[in-house]
Parts: sequence; structure tokens; C-alpha cells
Amino acid sequence: MPRIASVIGFPRIGADRELKKAIEGYWKGRRELDEVRSTARELRERHWRIQVGHDIDLIASNDFSYYDRMLDTAILLGAIPERYRRLGLDAEDTLFAMGRGYQGPRGDVTALPMKKWFTTNYHYLVPEIEEPAQIRLNSEKPFEEFTEAKALGLVSKPVLIGPYTFLKLARGPQGGALDYDAGLIDAVASVYVEVLRRFIGLGAQWLQLDEPYLVLDKDEGDMALFRSLYSRILPARTSAHGSLKVLLQTYFGHVGDCYETLALLGFDGIGLDLVEGREGNLSALERYGVSEGTTIFAGVVNGRNIWRNDYAASLGLVDAVGRITPDVAVSTSCSLLHVPFSLEGEDGLGEPVRRHFAFAVEKLGELRRIAELADQDEAGLRADKALAANQSLFDGSRVRRDQAVVERLAALRPSDFTRHPARAERRTIQREELGLPLLPTTTIGSFPQTARVRAERARLRKREIGQEDYDRFIAGRIDSVIAEQERIGLDVLVHGEFERNDMVEYFGQRLKGFLFTRNAWVQSYGTRCVKPPIIWGDVSRPGPMTVRWSSYAQSKTDRMVKGMLTGPVTILNWSWPREDIGRKEQTEQLALAIRDEVEDLEAAGIRIIQIDEAALREKLPLRRSDWHRAYLDWAVPAFRLVHSGVRPGTQIHTHMCYSEFNDIIRDIDAMDADVISFEASRSDLTVLDAIQAAHFETEAGPGVYDIHSPRIPSQEEIEERIGQILHKMDAAKVWINPDCGLKTRGEAETWPSLEHMVAAARYVRARLEGAC
Ligand code: GLN
Ligand code: ZN
Repeated sequence: MPRIASVIGFPRIGADRELKKAIEGYWKGRRELDEVRSTARELRERHWRIQVGHDIDLIASNDFSYYDRMLDTAILLGAIPERYRRLGLDAEDTLFAMGRGYQGPRGDVTALPMKKWFTTNYHYLVPEIEEPAQIRLNSEKPFEEFTEAKALGLVSKPVLIGPYTFLKLARGPQGGALDYDAGLIDAVASVYVEVLRRFIGLGAQWLQLDEPYLVLDKDEGDMALFRSLYSRILPARTSAHGSLKVLLQTYFGHVGDCYETLALLGFDGIGLDLVEGREGNLSALERYGVSEGTTIFAGVVNGRNIWRNDYAASLGLVDAVGRITPDVAVSTSCSLLHVPFSLEGEDGLGEPVRRHFAFAVEKLGELRRIAELADQDEAGLRADKALAANQSLFDGSRVRRDQAVVERLAALRPSDFTRHPARAERRTIQREELGLPLLPTTTIGSFPQTARVRAERARLRKREIGQEDYDRFIAGRIDSVIAEQERIGLDVLVHGEFERNDMVEYFGQRLKGFLFTRNAWVQSYGTRCVKPPIIWGDVSRPGPMTVRWSSYAQSKTDRMVKGMLTGPVTILNWSWPREDIGRKEQTEQLALAIRDEVEDLEAAGIRIIQIDEAALREKLPLRRSDWHRAYLDWAVPAFRLVHSGVRPGTQIHTHMCYSEFNDIIRDIDAMDADVISFEASRSDLTVLDAIQAAHFETEAGPGVYDIHSPRIPSQEEIEERIGQILHKMDAAKVWINPDCGLKTRGEAETWPSLEHMVAAARYVRARLEGAC
């Protein structure tokens, strides 16, 4: 029998983001819901046909979603909180209300919270289960989409988020912890049993249940929960009406710590990620073997990179599994949702470059090829021209190394990663030199990117205006925000970042080594997509990137203007990295490039420089035992490499967009910045306890108001926030700033909010100074 090729999931947004355009058009009242439905149906059909065209055996259905699959699963299980039901909207509008909030004639509710999907840049909605009694089969979506495919002649493999992952990621009433009591487990398992029955009735052969939560470290009781769910669900595979195979699909890591349990449960298929979870999964297979009747789905086509597959390496993996069991199917490593749609239309990349890439559509071809090659004998493989051509992509000739960069990295010494003198000593010097007041006020960097700012950038791109006109416009914006910040009385000013479209692309475009695509969008959340740049070669900085506007801004005021840079770890994490060299080496290359910029800013008279690491936490490995060895041990030193060369009096700031760093607080301190600002206004401020407990040395500005909301906070409420902060932190180390950059806000709320913030800081400052 020819080897089975299985695709875990396919991008749903469309080659030209048709789904995004349809849904957003509907939100703006420009389209009818029926148009959205028919666009969705067309996309599903097109995407299935593409996969059929590539001879994929197990093609997913129900991988489609209007907004998010976790949200769909919540709705499937009836976990719709009362506040959304009460609106009395139809099915799609209820879904959108849960996804993005609702404000209108029927009420005013905020959206469900959103969180990062494991280590990807995709965000899921956090389901809220108010009570087990709510749980029942509540949607026809998976069945309808299966039937839709069947009408096109395709017996698809329906995919669902599994009950264990669903429950582990869901929250209880009002977002509190969920109680996994017997009633809840029973209710959830019953819905899946019902789903199995329905699919047997519809003639499905395989059902894929996604359980990525299995690749995380386990808490006590986790495997008992898993077992009690599946020991109820699996018996429903056979009934008087037929039977169904269940594929337990894992991804984003290995399941070495629970594989034995999975094997004992007797799934028909177990899907293992042999890219991100290679070692752990292979050694578990070797140790525990494979039960009779179980097919191992070897995830060898990487769903998280854009590079061509190395066929020889993939075949080696399939072989390794093949030595343990004869029943091996080949699969993507995870859903292809996380890669761009196709290379078609990327004509800006020449053929010598393009042939190194494989987006979702091209990965289908790779999967088919690997399935075929895996069935060939030695002689067949030796004669295979395609295999030879594939091998030539990995012979090291892709890019010529930049010797200057290679040598600069090789010459690095441990001392290059340490700034002198120590932080406490620098504090004294900086206090003297910078002359800042107690509780200094500042912002995170960007000011509103108004329609006008974006329009001018678009006009420049379309060559409707020249560079000089554009620069004059930017200078005008800077003049205006400098004047405004002075009027309000902020202590440390910023130039506003009007010249930047994005905090990574802006730098990528000014560095050597990056490539940009035209249409390589990937979904980030809801209908939002991002288009990360590609790190193609060794990275270096041909010339200054930010000095001009920072110096210009500084020339307009007697107050200090903060220089504003993106850090190396964030640039790496929000780009497509290379695979021919490691992440550590790429981050160090980036760090040296940013280091040159830091030094140029300093030489130009900028005395405070902020290096944003908004995405540092994002790629923290899923398992705690890998945190340091596989990530922090090089990421944190790379940050230090950026700033270790500055004078003691130059103050280095950093910024992070979250407050979840209780567990890595020592590592954040080890970045050795002088000041850090971070998001805190929406959190419960336990981070302040962590700061206190860890004797955190870095001065810190926990955001005093939420910039994600258009609300204008009152002076009193900010004073109260500052009070809470001072309760836990030494006032001499506290900065006052908003949560994050202001670029997504309007002018109308930005200035009054900042006025209230400065007034609150002044009031508290006066009180403190009066007291001593
Ligand atoms: N300096 C950036 C800004 O203010 C930081 C953005 C971010 O943290 N995501 O926009
Ligand atoms: Zn931020």
C-alpha cells in the first residue's frame, strides 16, 4: 500500500487574504454576511482542491475558521458565556462578539482574552466555561464542512482541538482557574463521543484530535485527566453503524514524558513532531515501541519555517521510525497555518533565491515527494534526480559568508558581554549626569500613527511625493510632538517613531542580510496577519539607521530625547531565521549591528537609549528544562552585547510588552539594562511581588495605564496605581510611563492621558519629597 501523506491543517485566510477582506468588509458594514459565507466556502473548496491536486491522502476539514479554532471549539461545546448569549445575536455575530467584543444597540461586552498559541506568533481566544451544565454539542460546523468536502468528492479527515488541550487552555467563570471535576470531564467527553458517532454516520475514516498541550511539562493530575477523557472517548470509535480511526496529533515539541500512556491507550494513529520534538519523540519510540494497530504519523515537513525540506534528512527520520514499526505515515510537523500561502507571485525574489523556499502549497509537494521516496529502495534513491537536486540546496553554496561578520563574531571575548562598571556604580554616575527627578516620566517610544502619517508613507512608496517632501513631513511631526511633550512636562522625551512602519521591518530594511516578500502573510490573530522579513545571509549594518531623526529631535529641545532601537532577540523572533547557522549566531550578528547603532547614537549626543525586546519571552522554550540551555543562555548575553560598550553615564533602557516575567525575573535583571518599562496596568501586579522578592536591581517603569484601550485614565486613578507600585518598590527606582507604545492610539486620547500621568507623578513626587 502506498504510504499515507497527511496534512495537519492548511492556511485559511486565502492566497490574497480574501477571508480577511470579506470579514473586515462585513464588520465595516460594506458586505453582507452571505458574501462572507460564500467567500469562506470558495476558499475551503480551493484549498481542498489544491491538496487533492498534490495527492495528499488525509486532507483536513474543519481547519477553517472565521476567527479562531479555539473559539470554534468553545462554541462547539456550548461554552458561550451568558454575557454573549444575552446579546441575542445570530451564530456568526456571537462568534465575532466573543472574538472582538461588541458595542452596539444590544449591549457592551469586551472580547474573550487572547493568548499566544504555544511558541508561535498566532493568538487564540481563551475559552471561558461558566458551568459544566452548559456543555453540550452546540454546533454543526465540523459536520457541515465534512459534508461540504464530501459533496466535492473528498472524504476528508475532520480535525478538532482535543478535549485535553481545550480544557487545559480554558478558564473558569470570569477567567478564574477551571476546576476539572468529574462533571466537567464527563460533559466534555460526552460531546466528543457524540462527535465520533456523528462522523461514523457521515462516513469519515479518520478523525484528528489535536493535543499540542501534551508537549508541555506536566502538572500533577494532567495525565490522569488525559486518561479519563480518552478512556471515555475512544470506545465510541466502533458502533453498530461502523467505525472510525482516531489520530492523536501532537506538535511543537516532544511527548517523551507521556508517550507510554499514549501508546497504552491504543490510538489508531499518533502524530509526532519530528522537527521540534525530534530527539524526545524518537527516543520514546525506541524505548516504548509502538502498539499493534497504531500508525505513527512522522511529522517531517516543517510547518514553521519557509525553507525547502532537506529530503535526505526527512527520509532518515522516516527510516528511524520505520525501524521500530512498519506503520509509518508522513505528515507536516504542525498545521501549515503558520507559514505563508504560496511562492506564486513572489517574483521579486529571483529564481536562485526562490528555489530555497517552500510555503504552504510548496510544502504539499514536498510531503508527497517524501512519501514516494520513502518507498524507494537504495538504487531507486541513487537514481532519483529530484533527490539529487534537493541535496544541492544544502551543499553550503546558498550564500557566501560575509567574512568580516564571521571574523567579528569569532573575535568576541566574554568581556564583550559585560558592561562596566557594575549597575550600582553606573546609577550614581547617571543620577549625577542626567539630573532626573524622582519618579521620572517618559513614554515607550511611538506616538499616534495617524491616517495622515500612514498616507504620507504610502505616497512616498508610490512615488507620489519625493524623499525630501516626506522627510519634511516627518520633521514636522517630530517638531510637533517634541513641543507637546515639553508642554505637558514629560522628563524624558521621544521622537515618536513616525518614520517607522514596524519595529522589525524598519531595521530589516536598513540591515544587510534581509529579504522581503510581497505577499507572504501569516495569520497572527482574528483577521490580522503579519509579514515577517527573511534572514537570508550574514547580517551587518551598512550605516546609521536611526541617528538622523533622534539627533534632529534632540536638537529641538533642552530636555533629553531617548534613542529608540529594536533589540536583537526581538528582530530574530519576528523574522524567518536561517537554518544553516544557529539562532545564537544570528542573534549575535544582529546584536553587533545594533551595537554599532547604539555607539553612533551615543557619539551623536543621545544620552538615553532604549532597546526594545518586546518578543523576548515569546520564544521561551515550552519545557522549563530547556529555558536556559536552549534559549536564555544566549539570548540574554546577546542583549548585553548590544550595550556593553557605552559610557557609564549613558542610560540603557529596555521595554517588554507583557508582565509575565515572574519566572524569568533574574534573567531579565541579567540583561543588565539600567531601566525597564513593561506592561502592568492590566495585570494583577504580582510582578511587583516578584520584583521585591528577587531584589530586582534594574530600575523599572510598570505601565501605569492601559494603552490598548481608548479610555482616558483620570489623574486619581494613576495616582492610585503609582501608590500600589510604591508599596512594593523603592521610589528611587521607579519610572512612570504608559504600558506600551502609543502608535495605535488617537491624538485625542493620547495627550490628555499623558497630562494626567504627568500630573499624577508630580503630585506623588511632591508628597514623597515633602515627607523626607
Ligand atoms: N518603541 C516601540 C513603540 O513604542 C515599542 C513597541 C512594542 O513594544 N511593541 O511603539
Ligand atoms: Zn510594548
